[in-house]
Formats: sequence, C-alpha cells, structure tokens
Amino acid sequence: MGERVKDKVAIVIGAGSVGPGWGNGKAAAVLYAREGAKVMAVDVNISAAEETKAIIDSEGGECIVGQADVSRAEDVESIIKRTQEHFGCIDILHNNVGILSVGGAVELTEEAWDHEFSVNIKSMFLSCKYVLPVMESQGRGSIINISSTAAVRWYGVSYIAYSASKAAVGGITRTVALQYADKGIRCNSVLPGLINTPLVRNSLTSAYADGDVDEMMRIRDGQSPTGKMGTAWDVAHASLFLASDDAAYINGVELLVDGGFTARSA
Ligand code: NAP
Repeated sequence: MGERVKDKVAIVIGAGSVGPGWGNGKAAAVLYAREGAKVMAVDVNISAAEETKAIIDSEGGECIVGQADVSRAEDVESIIKRTQEHFGCIDILHNNVGILSVGGAVELTEEAWDHEFSVNIKSMFLSCKYVLPVMESQGRGSIINISSTAAVRWYGVSYIAYSASKAAVGGITRTVALQYADKGIRCNSVLPGLINTPLVRNSLTSAYADGDVDEMMRIRDGQSPTGKMGTAWDVAHASLFLASDDAAYINGVELLVDGGFTARSA
C-alpha cells in the first residue's frame, strides 16, 4: 500500500468493467485505494462496481458502491450527495465513463449520436455541476476526465460521435480548470491511446478484420509505436499522478498516455 492519495476521498464513475479483466475505471479505483484513498465506486452496472469493491476490500482498502446512470442528473446528484454524507468530503472526481459506436456521419443513427453525447459528455457536465460546489466549499479538489487520443487523431476506423464527444472533453476540462484555478480545484484530462481493455473487444471488433478478435489485437499492437497496446494500469497511473498533490501545479492539461502514437503522427 502506498500513500500518494492517503485519506483522500475519490469518486470513480464507471468503476466497473464491461467484461472480464481490467478496464480503465476498475484499475483506477483499485489504484486510488492502494494509494490510501477511500473510494466511491459508481457504475450503471452495480455488480461490476461490486466486483471492484470486492478487490479493494480483499486488499484491505475502503470502498462503497453506488448505482447511477451518469447521463441522468438525479442519479449523479444522488451519488455525490451520498459520497459526501458517507465520507465527509470529496477530493477526487474521476470521470471514466465512455461508450463507442462504430460509424461515420452516414452510418450512425441520430439516436446513437445523442446517446453517445449524453453518456460521454453530458455525464461530465453533470458530475462537475454537482461536485464543484462541494470542492469549492472545501477549498480543494482534483477532477480527472478520461478522454481519448481519438479526440485528436484518426485511427483508421470511423466512430464519429466518439471522436467528437471526446474532443469536447478538452472544452469542459479547460473551462473548469480556469474558472476554479484560484479556488484550490484542478481539472485535467487523460487521453489514452491504444489500450488493451475489455471495452475494445466489446465495442470495436466489428470494425476490424471481419470480427476476428485476435487479428484486431494484432493490428492494434502493430499500430502502437511500442509494438504493444498499453494497459488499464498505464491510464490509472497517469490519473493517480494528476489526482495526487504531486501534480499540485498541473491544471488544464491533456495528458497523452499513448506510447508516442500522437507524437508520431504530429
Ligand atoms: P468500460 O469497461 O466499458 O466501462 C466502465 C464501466 O462504465 C462499465 O462497467 C460500464 O457499464 C459503465 N458505464 C457505461 N455507461 C454508463 C453510464 N451511463 N453510467 C454509469 N456507468 C456506465 O471502460 P473502461 O475500460 O473502464 O474505460 C473506458 C474509458 O476509457 C472511456 O472513457 C473510454 O473512452 C476511454 N478510452 C479507452 C481506450 C481503450 O483503448 N480502451 C482508449 C481511449 C480512451 P456497462 O458494462 O453496463 O456498460
């Protein structure tokens, strides 16, 4: 156990994983706990959040769970209220939820576009809306928004609502970062590149190699400058740094966690 966020309270939204293995949100929740934070693990799928809690409990950490669809204001307000009531404060808000539908402007339905914007972006607006007054009253807080390098680069597959909604994360991050910079609150985003998580197998398979998952993984490994995709832990460690006091003077940044993919295609 470390102490990089010792005694801080972290809300991780999207703390479960869409499939077996380590997703970005699950790894972040477990890492915050390993580094001393008390964690509120939030997910629309409560059993996925409970799985994360079971890992934290088994390692001697402290975690409670909450069910919420973060595109719904009443759900978000309620989990933030519950976290404050249970732990007494909120130091870290980690916005991990993000969904992806393959398709360009012609292929994607209007309903899919609206849904993706609601889940990927409205959710961040809502969590900030309800957590910022709490952080402002405390005079401290750190917000981590999980974006994607798809916000700034083309990966060879069209997922227009995903790319556009992830690009919007930068706008939310900069606005919150600057409006609250003199109130002890920081807001930063992490842009993961090619990461090997259950989400990739769940959402992207149809777009690669006629649905051949092993071939898709080979292609994605090959796209990375390192020859291998990153892992959920790479994203979690970057988030931990931004959440911790080690990053006390880091505000409004978009931290790339992509093995150099973006630099190579600059
Ligand atoms: P994940 O396993 O798909 O998602 C974590 C959890 O979020 C799942 O349990 C999921 O529940 C839940 N969730 C989905 N919609 C929700 C909602 N409306 N309200 C509350 N919870 C909801 O994904 P992950 O691996 O943790 O990471 C996802 C984040 O990383 C996203 O923001 C994604 O854009 C970003 N990212 C990933 C990659 C990559 O290559 N893997 C690259 C760049 C960025 P369900 O299982 O019920 O859906």
